[in-house]
Formats: sequence, C-alpha cells, structure tokens
Amino acid sequence: MTTYDSLLADIAPDAGESREISNPATGEVVGRAPVHTVDDLDAAVATARAAQPGWAALGHAKRSELMLAAADAIDASAEALAQLLTREQGKPLNGPNARFEVGGASGWLRAAASTPLEAETVIDDGESHAVLHYRPIGVVGAIGPWNWPMMISVWQFAPALRMGNTVVVKPSEYTPLSVLALVSVINSVLPEGVLHVVTGDREVGARLSSHPDIDKVMFTGSTATGKAIIRSSADTVKRLTLELGGNDAGLVLPDVDPAAIAQDLFWGAFINTGQTCAAMKRLYVHDSVYDAVVDELAAVAASMPMGVGTDENNVLGPLQNKAQFDIVARLVESAKASGARVVMGGNPDAEQPGYFYPTTLVADIDNDNDLVQHEQFGPALPIIRYSDVDEAVAMANGLDVGLGASVWSGDRDAARDVAARIEAGTVWINSHGGVHPMIPFGGVKQSGYGLEFGVEGLKALGVPQVING
Ligand code: NAD
Repeated sequence: MTTYDSLLADIAPDAGESREISNPATGEVVGRAPVHTVDDLDAAVATARAAQPGWAALGHAKRSELMLAAADAIDASAEALAQLLTREQGKPLNGPNARFEVGGASGWLRAAASTPLEAETVIDDGESHAVLHYRPIGVVGAIGPWNWPMMISVWQFAPALRMGNTVVVKPSEYTPLSVLALVSVINSVLPEGVLHVVTGDREVGARLSSHPDIDKVMFTGSTATGKAIIRSSADTVKRLTLELGGNDAGLVLPDVDPAAIAQDLFWGAFINTGQTCAAMKRLYVHDSVYDAVVDELAAVAASMPMGVGTDENNVLGPLQNKAQFDIVARLVESAKASGARVVMGGNPDAEQPGYFYPTTLVADIDNDNDLVQHEQFGPALPIIRYSDVDEAVAMANGLDVGLGASVWSGDRDAARDVAARIEAGTVWINSHGGVHPMIPFGGVKQSGYGLEFGVEGLKALGVPQVING
C-alpha cells in the first residue's frame, strides 16, 4: 500500500543536484526534488522519442485500458498523494482543495481514456470521398504551474497519451514533488519510456519549448511566459496549446437574491485561496444590490477558516510562495492608498509563519485601480459598483485577457444575453470557475489559444490527416 512516506521514498533523488522543498504554511521541509539539467531533458526527450512508435502501435483500446488502470492506481494512493500535495502546495486537505484535486486528476485521466474519437467522413457523395483522421503528433512537452500541479499536469498529458503521443512533463519549480509523485504512481502501470518528468528551472522549460524533437507544447502559466514560448517554439513550428493568465469578471445584475448567491460568489473567487486561473478576480455589482451583496459575501467569507492545510478544519491556505504573497500585498496596498474601503482582511500578521494573506474584500474601488486591472492570483477581491449594465459589460471587456467570466441573475435568459456580449472563453451563469472533463475550456485574447477537455481536447493532441479518395 502506498503511504505518504513510501511515496516520498519512491521519488527521492538518487544522484545529481537537488533542492529542498518546504511547506509554504509552516516552513517545514517536505522533501528534496532533483534539479535536472538541460542534458537530463535531452535524454528524456530521446527516450520518449524512441518509445513513441510502440505506444502509438498499441492502439486506442489498449492505451485506454492502461490509462484506466493508472487512474485506479491514483485512487489507491489518493490519500498519500493528497497529503503530499497539501504539504508542498499549501492547499488544505479539505474543501475544494487537495483531496478534490487528486480526485480530479484520476477523473480527468479516466475521461481522456474513455472519450470516443471517430474518424470523420467529411464528404461521401459518389464523386468525392474524404475522411478526416487524427494521428499522433509525436513527443509532447507539458509545462505546468504551481497552483493545481497534479490536476493541470493530467489535463496536459492525459489527452496526449490517449492520442498515441509520448510526453515529457516540466512541472513548476515550486511544486515538483507533487507531479513526480503522481507520475510515479501512474508509471507503475504504463510501459517504460512513455511518460517522463524533468524537474528543472526555467532554462529547462525554455529548452523544452525550443527542442527540435518536441512536436507540441501544452503550456499552462502566465501570459508573459506564454509569449516567450511562442517565440522560442517558432523555429521548429511547434503546435501549441496555451492556457494563460486571466482576470475574470463577475457581473451581478440587479435582480439577484444576495443571500442566495453569496456562497457561490465566495467559492468562485476564493477557490484554492484565489490561486486559480479561472477564479473571479473582479466583481461588478449593480448599485441597487451592492451593499447587500458585499454584506452577504463578507458573512460567508468570515465563516471560512484559513490555516495550515493538514488541519482538517481549514478550507483556505497560504499563498504558495513569497513572490505571490508580495504581489497580493502590493495590489491591496495600492487599493488602500486610493481610498477604497477594506471590508475585511488587508492586514497580514507579520508574526505568523507561512505565506498567509487574510481573506480580503475591497469595496468602493475604482475600475482603474491596480487591484482591478492586474491579476492578483490570491485571496483579495475588488468589488466595483456600477449602475448601468452596458457600462459593466464595457468594464468586463476592458482588459487584454479573457479566460472566464460570470453573470449572476434571477433571469437565466437575461443572463445569457449579457453573457453573449462578454469576451471570455467561458461565461458561467450563477456560478464561476467550474470545469468538467467533457466541456471544452480555453481562453480568448491574451489568455491563450487552443481548447482542452472533451473531444476538442483530444483533437488538439492529434495531427489531422485527410485521406481523400
Ligand atoms: P509561470 O508562467 O511563471 O510558470 C509556469 C511554468 O513555465 C513553470 O513550470 C516555469 O518553470 C515555466 N517557465 C518559466 N519560464 C519559461 C520559459 N521561458 N520557457 C518555458 N517555460 C518556462 O506561471 P505560474 O506563476 O507558475 O502560474 C501562475 C499563472 O498561470 C497565472 O497567471 C495563472 O492565471 C496562470 N494559469 C492559467 C491557467 C489556465 O488554464 N489558463 C491555469 C493555471 C494557471
């Protein structure tokens, strides 16, 4: 049986450089992660290249069977994986956090294994006959962030494996252990050489995105890094799926019941303590319900315990790293300096160990404040007052990113009309941020391009080929 200790022992670095990883809630050492080099990356890519034809030759049915067995292995090790994720990432075990993420990792692996993908007969009219197939691309590089390290890695490599590609994963330097452990569990089932992890720094990511033997890069992370990857992948014309930063707007229309929506508003913004790509990062509320929404939201927020993730009571945790803590603190300070009203939070306890920033709501803030205009990626929500829906739509659309958005209303049809005018890859009605393995997900504008999940997600990990005749 996998235990927390056996999991850590399985991924302990044996040789070469390694670095200490510590718990962002306590500063305690969690373990050591290898610091791989560009040469290690080259070796992993060569092995993945050699293994790819054999993996592709297994066919969809056999690959799916192995992936489902790998999902069973995750389930069997779920508690040990969640314990490690909590200690390395900081997110609590409970709430929509570590156990939830491990469940999502196995769920998405199963979905990628089980989704049918048929060849499409495009035309068959007696004169022409053309069929569109999706072939393996080759070797896929998967570069991930630190906020949902296990789940996002699966989002990247599961459809790649299903489509007959082999994969080299480059996790964030902040959360390598979680991804090493997850892949170690999966690799107890998959054939050798098919799925690799290389845990280096940014140079390793940069080499992966320019590597002549990598055919596609799946990238999830900041818009700035996404742009660097576009540039460095240009010479080899790699295919790219880019899931980049967001600054999602929520629009609350005048006809809501503030008490009824407060809990969903809260989790829409504060899931994973705000460190979520498609979390609600700015909330626009109609003047007629503004005070009531702020009050109800504050009441819910005050009831959500934040603390060390291994304490079963907590549902909010620390920021994952000091750099992110500093970003959140700076943005809240800019809001305070502008005269905005801090309803709660905004004042971290300097004596407390760990990167804890208290749950913060900022009301009566101008739309042009930095806390509204820049992605905070943490537990601080600006709430902007509006009086005209057209003005709110214009403010929602005023940024150069467009990952998600939400509209909140008692009238679903009216909400859908407003949703259609918002520039975002997904617009939720009366909720925010929920994803589903069969519903395509992706951004517009500088939030990236390409879709993940479902049939569209599988197609993105295949190369189209038309057989005409
Ligand atoms: P980041 O861009 O700093 O790092 C992401 C990964 O890229 C890391 O593994 C890093 O080592 C690697 N990297 C850094 N420089 C590189 C380079 N030049 N070439 C190749 N790889 C390089 O992002 P982060 O801080 O880890 O994540 C937070 C950001 O990610 C936020 O902006 C958030 O909105 C975004 N995000 C988006 C989604 C989505 O689905 N759209 C999901 C999660 C996070």
